[in-house]
Amino acid sequence: MSTARNTRVEPETKPAAEDRYAWQQDVTGFGAEGQARLREATVLVSRAGGVGGTVAVYLAAAGVGRLVLAHAGPLRLDDLNRQILMTTAGLGSPRVDIAEQTLASLNPEVAVETVPANIDAENAAALVDRCDLVVSAAPLFSERLAMNAAAVASGTPLVDAAMYDMEARLFVRETASDPCLACLYPADPPQWKRRFPVLGAVSGTIGAMAAVAAIQVLTGMPRPAAGRLTHLDFTTLTLRQVAIAKRVGCCVCGTARPV
Ligand SMILES: [Zn+2]
Repeated sequence: MSTARNTRVEPETKPAAEDRYAWQQDVTGFGAEGQARLREATVLVSRAGGVGGTVAVYLAAAGVGRLVLAHAGPLRLDDLNRQILMTTAGLGSPRVDIAEQTLASLNPEVAVETVPANIDAENAAALVDRCDLVVSAAPLFSERLAMNAAAVASGTPLVDAAMYDMEARLFVRETASDPCLACLYPADPPQWKRRFPVLGAVSGTIGAMAAVAAIQVLTGMPRPAAGRLTHLDFTTLTLRQVAIAKRVGCCVCGTARPV
């Protein structure tokens, strides 16, 4: 007869709080200094869905000091194929409230501030100005462009992650010499629809890549995504990067910018 069931397992010594981050501090170029930089950082994530929710999970797990989550509306059943911060028990509750609870259970050291609204031209500047980095993970171009404009105006680094069907894109603007999102998309594409095909694993993949890019910018690690458009195609499983030129006539970051 096996005695395994009766074997008493002695509890391990209570781990020190810093043990939470021990494995990532071994990452090349990260270290204790990278951890300290994350702890001091405030990051705006909009929204907390299939892409942004994944970003928020990894930034919280990594120990970003403060997360500001912006997302309007209650959780619906058709959100749950991709919005991994959410729970079935939370149906009908505000999504930011569920996200806050999930992140608190993952890492109570992270301060989570919730904004029960989507980003628009009216509220973008006030939210972006007090953050060290903006993660734009909104499904609508109007929201993404509003965050971009506020990030350019305040000199805040922007990580923009988006997906459609089996394709995903990542764009990072770190400094004023980088192009901005409006250099790529001068206007809201009129054919874009709010509802589009989403496989949760695809939105989660680009969300995880956006989290890596955010951590690289915040900690000073090498930043291969900065100033570039990274395109991921799951139908061929290929990744390609395109260097984007700053558009001279860009009305947000170029010479046509209003003064
Ligand atoms: Zn621009």
